[in-house]
Amino acid sequence: MTFDNNLDHIDSPRPISNGMDKIVSLAKRRGFIYPGSEIYGGLSGTWDWGPYGVELKNNVKNLWWRMFVQERDDMVGLDAAILMNPKAWEASGHVSGFSDPLVECSNCKSRFRADNLEDKNVCPSCGKKGTFGEARQFNMMFKTHVGADETAASISYLRPETAGGIFVNFKNVMDSIHPKLPFGIAQIGKAFRNEIAPRDFVFRAREFEQMEIEYFVNPAEWESAFEEWRNNVHAFNDAIGIPRDAVHELEVVPEDRAHYSRRTIDFEFDFPFGRKELYGLAYRTDFDLKAHMEASGVNLEYMDEQAKQKFIPHVIEPSFGVDRTILALLASAYTEDELGGESRTYLKFNKAVAPIKAAVFPLLKNKPQLVEKAREIYLSLKKEVPQIMWDDNGNIGKRYRRQDEIGTPVCITVDFDTLENDTVTVRNRDTGEQVREPIANLKSVI
Ligand code: ATP
Repeated sequence: MTFDNNLDHIDSPRPISNGMDKIVSLAKRRGFIYPGSEIYGGLSGTWDWGPYGVELKNNVKNLWWRMFVQERDDMVGLDAAILMNPKAWEASGHVSGFSDPLVECSNCKSRFRADNLEDKNVCPSCGKKGTFGEARQFNMMFKTHVGADETAASISYLRPETAGGIFVNFKNVMDSIHPKLPFGIAQIGKAFRNEIAPRDFVFRAREFEQMEIEYFVNPAEWESAFEEWRNNVHAFNDAIGIPRDAVHELEVVPEDRAHYSRRTIDFEFDFPFGRKELYGLAYRTDFDLKAHMEASGVNLEYMDEQAKQKFIPHVIEPSFGVDRTILALLASAYTEDELGGESRTYLKFNKAVAPIKAAVFPLLKNKPQLVEKAREIYLSLKKEVPQIMWDDNGNIGKRYRRQDEIGTPVCITVDFDTLENDTVTVRNRDTGEQVREPIANLKSVI
């Protein structure tokens, strides 16, 4: 296990063990994920998304948005500001309570998150026993100043979760859209936490992305809504290709729940470094709306026209981490096998998330007729399916390897027969099998 035991913001990216090395190295080598600010030695807990990483991430976010916002009539979207009035975070309890227990080794001065230590008596950095004093609570919100004055009055925070923006806009959505309960507001966006020990690649970062839903219900119906969203979480995993048998539900015991939650299920995934939280599903009761109503003085009640009754809606919150989803996808897809007597590595992404859906090659790069025909096919396919790639570098074998490593499901090769009969070779990533297909069929093949 590796620990990032430094609270300094600038330190170099650490090596990652536990079988993750290959995934991290492929992610960098093939343009998925790079260490943040790498040429300056990195910035701990930050990662930069490369050309294929950003396509993969967008595919996941678009599928989520489509499934949970666009295809439903009880959901709407929102994109709230990252910087919020600090009173919102005071009301939600984050200013006083969003902290992790921090311990420091009196011998080597390394710092750790106390609840993540395997042995609370031994410093994992220097190996000394009994060097940790009492844990102190470390607030994880990033503070900043808004405006030219750096005074206490100008303090604001980078949001530690996207949920806050949804609660403070509850009234705006009610007044502008007039939805009836039950309904939900979804948001995808960045969240920031000054984690004591960012580690395990993008699993625990200081800047990351969340896809969150606040689903507002009549309190009498919270249990059925909770069940519905529990099933929806699994349906989303099915759609993107995270295997069900690698996901495990953990009923969180009351003493481990967040301050706002009356019931929480963690959806844990078998990451290469152990079984850890992928997503959370929480019943936040009316905690947030009530707290914001009291702190702001603005009425956030809902009027049930039929029952002629006013009440504060209760909330079911499914919370999906984008970065952990990508890591689970990379870990599920990473495959090593042997093809044609040679070992190879490939990413077995399903078509829905694969960053590139198909690559088009001319068999030979120095034959203008082949290149021209291949270009024509490439451009016409790209109009229909934008995530198509052109590759004429190196020999065909090298091109296949490259496409395998970024998870491209099919490669299309234009050869001399194409010029005769308008068919191409279509090669399947998983089996390496090649079949001839008429050009006219390519769209449906992809
Ligand atoms: P953990 O216990 O692992 O710190 P958490 O319970 O604090 O996580 P939540 O507050 O429930 O996490 O956040 C919702 C989701 O946001 C998580 O399920 C996860 O997918 C994602 N997430 C939280 N913290 C991080 C982080 N530091 N880096 C990447 N993703 C994160």
